Amino acid sequence: MDIKTIGVIGAGQMGSGIAHVFALAGYDILLHDVNEGAIGKAIENIEGNLGRQLKKGKISEDEKTAALARIKPAAKLDQLSGCDIVIEAATENSELKKAIFRELSEILNPDAIIATNTSSISITALAAVTDRPDRFIGLHFMNPVPVMKLVEVIRGIATSQQTFDVAKMLVDKLGKTMAVSEDFPAFIVNRILMPMINEAIYTLYEGVGTVEAIDTGMKLGANHPMGPLQLADFIGLDTCLSIMQVLYDGLADSKYRPCPLLVKYVEAGWLGKKSGRGFYDYKGEVPVPTR
Ligand code: NAD
Repeated sequence: MDIKTIGVIGAGQMGSGIAHVFALAGYDILLHDVNEGAIGKAIENIEGNLGRQLKKGKISEDEKTAALARIKPAAKLDQLSGCDIVIEAATENSELKKAIFRELSEILNPDAIIATNTSSISITALAAVTDRPDRFIGLHFMNPVPVMKLVEVIRGIATSQQTFDVAKMLVDKLGKTMAVSEDFPAFIVNRILMPMINEAIYTLYEGVGTVEAIDTGMKLGANHPMGPLQLADFIGLDTCLSIMQVLYDGLADSKYRPCPLLVKYVEAGWLGKKSGRGFYDYKGEVPVPTR
């Protein structure tokens, strides 16, 4: 199957990263978001990130210009009708994603593939609302997409071998490495990572340590490049909470219950770096711990 045009739905942290790497790899991109302002902001961010890669000598000026020219905003979802594959990277919410896939099924060519960047939701359940469960797959990129080498690939129960082969080809084209996961809550990476982050939030909630002590402890004590609370802010606390809820509901084990402090931060709209405040405050030059 020849892939030329890729639709990306959701122009947040992940959608912009996905558009960035595929545009650099030579694909035409149509970038859609319900919030039109997010598309413009994403394209500005992509330009800034390409500029950083240029400064580091990773890409040339011509590559930067060509990649940017390949990314077109699509204010309406039906502008994605001619895409060969659409990668959905909208908010981590099952009902919201299902609504997108129902609408997409009506507008896409019958042979087009739908992929989702969900961090945790059942690929089989999302595929079941489409008209093409065989041409539906999980392509789980890591944040920040231009930097991180891994893509988790998840087949739903009905995903065809041909769809899997296209996904594998795309991951190869990006120069990234694939890890195949079975379709169980939160797959491999977040099944392991998110309970650790949730436990770090419990450690803060129970007063065992401050934000700084917890992050320094895990950075210098476990040799993690980033502390778990800093990483939670970076991922987005709403996304972390959604993933914990999927684990808790899907595996029915109390060890996955989301920390009440995480719930409270999300209720407050303190979603981490993307909203300017989470476990750190990002208004100044350097992030300041809030507890
Ligand atoms: P984000 O909050 O930065 O962006 C989500 C975007 O989706 C927003 O711009 C929002 O306007 C848009 N959106 C919401 N509803 C929409 C709709 N109906 N149609 C089109 N766009 C819509 O979130 P993010 O961090 O980019 O996460 C997006 C997806 O990627 C989630 O499924 C998340 O679980 C997954 N993911 C996130 C990370 C991470 O570290 N943040 C890593 C891997 C995967």
